[in-house]
Amino acid sequence: MNEYDTHTIQSELVAGGHELAAHPADADLLLLNTCAVRGKPVEKVVSVLGDLRKQRSEGRDVTVGLMGCLAQLEEGREVAQKFGVDLLVGPGAITDLLEALEEYGSLRSGERGGMIERLGFGPELHDYQPPPPRGLSGFLTIMRGCNHHCTYCIVPDTRGPEVSRAPESVLREAAAMRAAGVAEVTLLGQNVNSYGMGQPGMPSFPELLRAVADLGFERVKFTTSHPMNFTSELIDVIATHPNVCNYIHLPMQSGSDRVLRRMAREYRIERYLAIVREIREKVAEVVISTDVIVGFPGETEEDFQATLAAAETAAFEQAYMFMYSARPGTPSYKHFTDMPREVKVERLQRLIEAQKARSLAANEALVGKTLRVLVKDLGRDSRYAVGHSDQNHTVLVPAESVSSMGVKDVTITGATPHALYGEAVGAAPHGIELVMAS
Ligand code: SF4
Repeated sequence: MNEYDTHTIQSELVAGGHELAAHPADADLLLLNTCAVRGKPVEKVVSVLGDLRKQRSEGRDVTVGLMGCLAQLEEGREVAQKFGVDLLVGPGAITDLLEALEEYGSLRSGERGGMIERLGFGPELHDYQPPPPRGLSGFLTIMRGCNHHCTYCIVPDTRGPEVSRAPESVLREAAAMRAAGVAEVTLLGQNVNSYGMGQPGMPSFPELLRAVADLGFERVKFTTSHPMNFTSELIDVIATHPNVCNYIHLPMQSGSDRVLRRMAREYRIERYLAIVREIREKVAEVVISTDVIVGFPGETEEDFQATLAAAETAAFEQAYMFMYSARPGTPSYKHFTDMPREVKVERLQRLIEAQKARSLAANEALVGKTLRVLVKDLGRDSRYAVGHSDQNHTVLVPAESVSSMGVKDVTITGATPHALYGEAVGAAPHGIELVMAS
């Protein structure tokens, strides 16, 4: 999502007469588009701002802006003030950046000092359409915000309530991407499954997905999903549209109902596993990945065992696993006591080990099979060209055997828990030339 926002911000600046610097050291305006979902990225921002403050004290003349989710939080304002940031622009106000810069410029010429702020959210999602990305893949934001209130999550504070973008706007941007040669589009939202809900006259997410798929992309992906809104209709669209990826990311977070309740995740594990079963029954060769948080406050060994068991039952091929990170301002931060770090580390390790074995077994089962792989990096400086299969496997192919980017048929020759190795077979029947010509 931040990548898409950054692309939008860059396009706006260029349209406003600015030029993109080749390197941060050459820039006279530096914007940090931040994430606040975990503590780590915030620490990184603080470190970059500390470095910039030092450079400025040594005479560098550079304007600094803090953007993205951190900017929207009280924590972000405090950081911005501490480090002398000039512009504070939240994720709901990125299209106000040029105006903010203008105001900053006129204040700089003498009226008064202080930080320029553009925060908050309009009632509608902006209709700014950035130019299509260069390359074979692109993101497309279809909605903003979230109406769920998971107790560990800061997103409802930073990105506000759900607002869906008008379907005409989404389809216009998708068509422009397609015409520019984008082969793979990823529809983005905090919870794409609830697209259009609560906004009369809007299509549902399965309807929108079908319309985007019908534009003829090689591959359509979406992220991220909430189990509460993952319907049979959506599973049917995935199952019946060959260009909608048979890769589904469905955050589970915990396998214990007690923990799910404390997290305010509205489903119970039986319901979650029933969705997984339906997906596996209907979608051929599907790969399911998940997010899991270990060490949520109050998680007992028994709760953790339930998570291990649920992950085994769901047979996730891929997983993103994290230790609970207490975020100031969230309900779990206010009301629950964090558990000792060593317990969290130990549980995370056990979960990772179990997942590694599952991922390896799933990947090894693909050896000898031929997958459609979108090669986006020819690996000019390394031994391997890198691509992704329809099921989101990272696939490495000897660089000398691939001469152009695009969709290739690749026979899998080896596997690790995190990647597949393969050989491109025969001519590239779905090569980039074909993508560009249609
Ligand atoms: S559904 Fe996702 S974005 Fe929304 S509150 Fe829960 S974790 Fe955060």
